[in-house]
Amino acid sequence: MSVSSALSMNKSFRDSAIVLRTQNLGETDRIIVMCTREHGIVHAVAKGVRRSSSKFGARLEPFMLVDFSASGGKKLATISQVVTRRAYAAPIAADYGVFTVAAVICELAEQLVQNDQEAGSGQFSLLAGALSALARRSHSPYRILDSYIARSFSLAGWGLATSACGICASVDDLNYFSAEVGVLCQNCGRGNLVQRVTPISGDTPAYLTALKAGDWETVGTLGTASSLSVKSSRLMMEYAQWHLERPLKTLAILEKES
Ligand SMILES: [Zn+2]
Repeated sequence: MSVSSALSMNKSFRDSAIVLRTQNLGETDRIIVMCTREHGIVHAVAKGVRRSSSKFGARLEPFMLVDFSASGGKKLATISQVVTRRAYAAPIAADYGVFTVAAVICELAEQLVQNDQEAGSGQFSLLAGALSALARRSHSPYRILDSYIARSFSLAGWGLATSACGICASVDDLNYFSAEVGVLCQNCGRGNLVQRVTPISGDTPAYLTALKAGDWETVGTLGTASSLSVKSSRLMMEYAQWHLERPLKTLAILEKES
């Protein structure tokens, strides 16, 4: 090993992070996978965290927002200090429906940030906002998931079309949705130009636009009137899965909305 790489291995760094998932290591340690504000996805070892006397306590559970110090590289750092900023773990775990949505959001965040490290701090803020809304029960967990998908995928550069046709940019007769690009006009929707095309109701483009903007008033007004929100949820999940490299593991545990 060269002197410079030996130095960078021992370098310590601080950041804010959300714990996405954990994995046991050896008898008492755990690997903590985190979405950080400045360093993208970080994998770090928390030594002795499974001992009852651990100095880390319950601070490194999934969904916790923490400030931490660590040494080593992003691929496998060693955590030295942790301070809780927001304890989202307990309020999220208290409701199974909320918990499953939070698990899906964290898996989405891990894939999106891994693919696009530059969007890191924006993705961190969106993730923190979504978990905070889940912990506070600000909105239905499914609406929070739908809005998170619309916003995080747009930030990652996939540009979900919601207010104009994703192919020709027409704003008239937006009657179709494609998992590839978003809403489509009548002509493009029938033109076999993209895959996975489904017909949608007239309110859907405005509803998806509101989800993408985080306009909760419009989401509430349009979403309560019909089955629009449930159908749109399905569209958002199809859209997310189309663009991900790996299928979502947590999707199997997501409770189906009736
Ligand atoms: Zn079109």
